[in-house]
Amino acid sequence: MTDFTDLVAVVTGGASGIGLATAKLLASRGARVACLDLKPEGVEAPLVGVGADVSDDESVRAAIAAVVERFGRIDVVVNNAGIGAQGDVTANPDDEWHRVLDVNVLGMVRVSRAALPHLRESPSAAIVNTCSIAAWAGLPQRALYSASKGAVHALTLAMAADHVREGIRVNAVAPGTADTPWVGRLLDSAPDPAAERAALEARQPHGRLVSADEVAGAVAYLASPLSGSTAGTVLAVDGGMHGL
Ligand code: NAD
Repeated sequence: MTDFTDLVAVVTGGASGIGLATAKLLASRGARVACLDLKPEGVEAPLVGVGADVSDDESVRAAIAAVVERFGRIDVVVNNAGIGAQGDVTANPDDEWHRVLDVNVLGMVRVSRAALPHLRESPSAAIVNTCSIAAWAGLPQRALYSASKGAVHALTLAMAADHVREGIRVNAVAPGTADTPWVGRLLDSAPDPAAERAALEARQPHGRLVSADEVAGAVAYLASPLSGSTAGTVLAVDGGMHGL
């Protein structure tokens, strides 16, 4: 049983999709949850929305300070905010590479750096990063995005090694294609969204998209004492796609 009573969780990108589903699940199991997001306006109680841009160190520091001021502690960090990029290695200019890596990789570094002093005080500290099947699968037309998630994979292993002796477990989830507003926007931009969705579903081993709640369940497991001896693991939530 995942029980987060009395614990405080920070979920970046917590206003939408996987982050929002995770925030709701943690809150339903007793956590007080702060959703750090560029657009926190839609976050509803009992979740607390906090405006933050993970690509801006000052903004991150202020948001973490606001969470500690309000709740007095941080026990769980879910580094989930991320953005996409399309195309092969010729498709994006350098500044786009910097922008995506800045959000998807350095964003996790900034939030972890600001939260670590507080996690060290927790008897049940965990960081869970949102990686992706793109880190492993060699997806076509995803060079920049895949590179960013490959870095998240390596960062997760390195952080796990650095912090497990301090009692802070670091793990990651690697979703396959998940049914979130992000993927909805991509489908809506296709000439025939319904046909595109059907084709996408047919490409998944289990014949459907991964749900945000299924990813949230994996995050909750990795954030809870149920996984107390697990560190440096990247847990696939992809219907078995990575093994194909
Ligand atoms: P989403 O677009 O529904 O939600 C992402 C949230 O992150 C949004 O609320 C957005 O405002 C916020 N965000 C973006 N940039 C930010 C920034 N600089 N600072 C703070 N917040 C920011 O996306 P999602 O599908 O739920 O994706 C969440 C994570 O899951 C991402 O890291 C993504 O790479 C990863 N992922 C998604 C899928 C998928 O198929 N949806 C698959 C694998 C991995």
